[in-house]
Amino acid sequence: MDFALNEIQSAVQRTFAEFSDQRIGPVAAELDRKAEFPLELFRQVGDLGYFAMRYPEPEGGGMDVLSYALATEELARGSLGVAAGCAMQSLMGTTFVHRFTSGALRERLVGPALRGEILGTVCMTEPDSGSDLFSMKTRAELRGDTWHLTGQKMWITSAPVADLFTVFARTGERVLSVFLVERGAPGLSVGRTIDKMGVKASVTSEVGFEDVPATALLGELDQGAIYLRDLLAEVRVMTGALALGTARAAFDDARRYSEERRQFGKPINRFGAVQAHLAEMAVDLEAARHMVRWAAWRSDQGLPNAQEASMAKLFASEAALRICDRAARIMASYGYAEEYAVQRYLRDVRFTLIGGGTSELLRVNIARGLSQ
Ligand SMILES: Cc1cc2nc3c(=O)[nH]c(=O)nc-3n(C[C@H](O)[C@H](O)[C@H](O)COP(=O)(O)OP(=O)(O)OC[C@H]3O[C@@H](n4cnc5c(N)ncnc54)[C@H](O)[C@@H]3O)c2cc1C
Repeated sequence: MDFALNEIQSAVQRTFAEFSDQRIGPVAAELDRKAEFPLELFRQVGDLGYFAMRYPEPEGGGMDVLSYALATEELARGSLGVAAGCAMQSLMGTTFVHRFTSGALRERLVGPALRGEILGTVCMTEPDSGSDLFSMKTRAELRGDTWHLTGQKMWITSAPVADLFTVFARTGERVLSVFLVERGAPGLSVGRTIDKMGVKASVTSEVGFEDVPATALLGELDQGAIYLRDLLAEVRVMTGALALGTARAAFDDARRYSEERRQFGKPINRFGAVQAHLAEMAVDLEAARHMVRWAAWRSDQGLPNAQEASMAKLFASEAALRICDRAARIMASYGYAEEYAVQRYLRDVRFTLIGGGTSELLRVNIARGLSQ
């Protein structure tokens, strides 16, 4: 049974499912092996309108959060690495530039970013500052009428290929502001790509700022943390959708394998232990699907959803990890072989436990929300 989708949402789901099956799935293993950003595929995702979905209709969007979550889930079913890079572009990488630029700058950047012709990214994390955002050291100073940024960012998705950098920097004691920096700005250095365990098609690196002149302050001074808070629920729904897509791929592979693989004279799905794995996977999947869609739907109705989005992200990512692990158990030695995708799902899915807030941090937030 599916969450009652309207015609548009069903069409979005079908379109992205087809794209994922035809374009992403067949190359996912190779992208993982090469650990390269798939620019051509990224542009094709742009042609489908994904990057503009959550922006106003005249700019090619007008889609609700649920449609966006469905599209994201389907991309992740093909490759979490590809989907993570695309989701970063559409949400965090473009949001602030879209919201807070005007005139010629906006004309130069926003349309191309929404079409996927130029790449955006968001720089918050630092070597010594992860979950505790206010501990960041990158600072901004106003000299004349230009802001200059100094500091070091870490783990920045798409940085090796990005044209735009949305940078969070300290503009006071426990106060953050958001800046736009463009590739080529003096003092900006993009470090080497970090070798990761998973989501390898989503390239990640350090970014250094040595007195870098920002193109613009995005929004109002000192409002960075508030802007981020307003976006977090959607980021968490999106991360839940990424987890869900990977979990579905793992479940489908394991179920198919369990029908075909024979031991002791019968398909292994006749054994109670394997059936128990499949049943637990199906329950986890169903619960995660409903939680992600419920949080998305609440957002679309304008209902409070901070708590629901945190719960959905926490549950979906942890459930997806359990599902990928059970898939590997069902496939045993074949689940351990590079030739099969299950080992990739298991490596990739761990990312969803980190991005958008770690599970531990989300539990703290959810518990805090219970007593409000
Ligand atoms: C593949 C990948 C892509 C990324 N892309 C980006 C990006 O594009 N831009 C960006 O800015 N960042 C990005 N990040 C960074 C990511 O957002 C951070 O890794 C994340 O915020 C966690 O920070 P940390 O790794 O420094 O862990 P830490 O915050 O140091 O946490 C370490 C451990 O302590 C726990 N912990 C921390 N605080 C608490 C608390 N209050 N209560 C309970 N437990 C706590 C954590 O859960 C964790 O288990 C990316 C990370 C990865 C892996």
